[in-house]
Amino acid sequence: MIELDHVTRRYGETAVIDDLSLRIEGGELFVLVGPSGSGKSTLLRTINRLISIDDGAIRIDGRDVREVPVASLRRGIGYAIQSVGLFPHRTVAENIATVPRLLGWPAARIRARVDELIAMLQLDGENVLDRYPHALSGGQQQRVGVARALAAEPAIMLMDEPFGALDPLTRDALQSSIQAIHAQTGTTIVFVTHDMDEALRLGERIGLMESGRLLQVGTPLELLRDPACERVRAFVGGEN
Ligand code: ADP
Ligand code: MG
Repeated sequence: MIELDHVTRRYGETAVIDDLSLRIEGGELFVLVGPSGSGKSTLLRTINRLISIDDGAIRIDGRDVREVPVASLRRGIGYAIQSVGLFPHRTVAENIATVPRLLGWPAARIRARVDELIAMLQLDGENVLDRYPHALSGGQQQRVGVARALAAEPAIMLMDEPFGALDPLTRDALQSSIQAIHAQTGTTIVFVTHDMDEALRLGERIGLMESGRLLQVGTPLELLRDPACERVRAFVGGEN
């Protein structure tokens, strides 16, 4: 479903993404993991065209993303990052409803969808709908950010270290939420992290990146049992 075909992205002389090819299947929960600076965020952002590529092609369901009008491309792709960027002067409900409103969904459908997302992200019972972002905990803000990104039922969800700043317990809870949402909705999720433990716990398949290339792509078990090289062994073994 998402196909990266010999993709290169340069900054000056440096290829930050270096002739990288990868296929992510529809409905997959795929984790891109690698050290800071390895090119994970850059790669993720080429998929929704926040960053352009210099060589190669990216196709979604067989269609080159450069042929899709960027607004409609991004409507089909949720994007959640660490600094959530909730609108401070809008309530939680209004924040979550942002994209469905833009799409002109009827009010009743929007309300039902907001309720559904609040339940999915275990924000029900916390009375958050009419609150403003500043009155939420970090974990709640992160959940609202994920809910907003999921609101218009995107086929693809890109997540860039969304839980990086959270305490371990909150993070564990959110990882479970992501797995539950994935199981319920079948959304294709590409999840970026520098944390190998998180990758091994969350990923159906993992792509291990270093210096703009993929060292190995495989299931957690494959990476653990059959590392492609010493670098992979070191990462999986927690030596990095
Ligand atoms: P990661 O998300 O894995 O930490 P990034 O994709 O953010 O890595 O960055 C990969 C490399 O590209 C880094 O060396 C970074 O310094 C460089 N880079 C990222 N954005 C830019 C930019 N706008 N201009 C120049 N270099 C950049
Ligand atoms: Mg990054």
